[in-house]
Amino acid sequence: MESQVTKNETGIDNLDVGDMIKSFKGVTNNPLSKFIINRTFDYCEKDKADRLEVGLDLLFNNRENACIRCTILSKILSVLIKKGMTSFGVNEDELNEVMKDPHWVRGLSSVVKGIGKFGVQKPFVPGAPFQVVWNITRACNMKCVHCYENAGRKDVDELNRDEINQGLEINSKAGVTSVAFSGGEPTINPHITTYIKNANELGMYPAIATNGYRLSKEYVCNKFADAGLEFVQISIDGLNPETHDSFRGVEGSWEKAIQAIENCVERDFFVEVATTVTTHNIEEIPKIINYVKDLGVHWLMLYNFIPTGSGSDISEMDISPQNRLNLLETAYDENMIGDMQVLSTAPQFAPVAESLQSKSSLIPTHFYNPEYDNPQVMQLADFVGGCGAGRFYMSIEPNGDIYPCVFFPHDEELKLGNLLEDNFEEVWKNNPLLKTLRNKNLLDDHCGSCESKNICGGCRARAYTYFGDVKAPDPGCIRNQNKWNELKMKIPEFQEIQNGNILINLTSQ
Ligand code: SF4
Ligand code: SF4
Repeated sequence: MESQVTKNETGIDNLDVGDMIKSFKGVTNNPLSKFIINRTFDYCEKDKADRLEVGLDLLFNNRENACIRCTILSKILSVLIKKGMTSFGVNEDELNEVMKDPHWVRGLSSVVKGIGKFGVQKPFVPGAPFQVVWNITRACNMKCVHCYENAGRKDVDELNRDEINQGLEINSKAGVTSVAFSGGEPTINPHITTYIKNANELGMYPAIATNGYRLSKEYVCNKFADAGLEFVQISIDGLNPETHDSFRGVEGSWEKAIQAIENCVERDFFVEVATTVTTHNIEEIPKIINYVKDLGVHWLMLYNFIPTGSGSDISEMDISPQNRLNLLETAYDENMIGDMQVLSTAPQFAPVAESLQSKSSLIPTHFYNPEYDNPQVMQLADFVGGCGAGRFYMSIEPNGDIYPCVFFPHDEELKLGNLLEDNFEEVWKNNPLLKTLRNKNLLDDHCGSCESKNICGGCRARAYTYFGDVKAPDPGCIRNQNKWNELKMKIPEFQEIQNGNILINLTSQ
């Protein structure tokens, strides 16, 4: 097929995305160009970053000078990157504005590195995780019944301050874009603001996921802002304070969480409210949406309940496939009203949006719901690819153990390695479990034959938790209703999960 050249609304000539992807494939399949691209990933000792990132920083005026090799690279990148980005309807001034933020440069660098390391594939794999969720401690000031981490007391083998700082450098050198500190409760760690500052200085976008208790005090908010924190996720489990407090196991925690949200909005943080949806609170979701919207929150993240950690004791609170579908449709519709985005960690959000797409052009992702009139951007949905475990995300445990996603149970077979004992970049590139998770053709049962597997693929953490196999179907999807029914039928086995055991081994059926 001949290359098609189109004009976007900015008047800049650009390639059709399909053709551009073909061109990228051609370039990355060529051994010589692959060799040259891979050289740009080398770490430049003089400029203290990898050459690609230095070149991009020069290109977008985030640094004034660099060594001669990085400078030449920036000239080459200038042609390639601008051409590529304008293909997606981004005009040059907008692009320059966005790229003033070095975290965006880091993200773009990771995209280019991913093409160099893994080629142009569906779903796309960046050169390093876009986000690492780091549970820096298991210590917590609450006793949540649904906690995926079984948090409470600090573990004896948790990494100390120096080890965490060393780990941050490892993440940065690998090209991680963002580090989200979680736990346990990260705000009670005495060194948390130092970690945030260090992450920022190392070029990573810092975030925290908190129950909000400490941030209900203004002076604590100020300390986090001074450390360079910009993104705060605060959990609320219901609009009814009793619903929230009974879940959290601490009286008054709802009031503190709401106060923290108000403080953080006031302090100009980017504020995400996180709500884990269960049978316990699903009816409150429409009211929660309106309530947090009025508080000035930027995102509401509807977390998929995964019965792991303490959550395994309340597995019967998982919502049915039909309720999940209804919830996602509501979330989709809410994105059409007002400024607040409603997101979901349920990968079925993408097929739901696709089925409702006559209303708008929206690509739902865990992170962000880009809304574009540009149909070329919609072609990228297959590359974004639903579940991001081991592809866009990884998680780190308090002792440095690495898992594909924070919601994966801590079984030995799911452990990818240890931050300080193994080579992080080698794990990302070659770990066999990650290769399995990145290959949607390996999915079993209906997820494997589903027409939406490239934009969804089911939640792999849920599949494993219910069936003991990362390739198993996600029983939370309406298209896997039969699997949900089977689970419900097998009541004795279903209750086994309450003891933290694997429920049903699909391979034995
Ligand atoms: S069957 Fe699997 S891949 Fe298809 S929409 Fe459902 S969860 Fe996603
Ligand atoms: S396993 Fe995948 S879909 Fe599930 S929470 Fe993790 S990244 Fe999201």
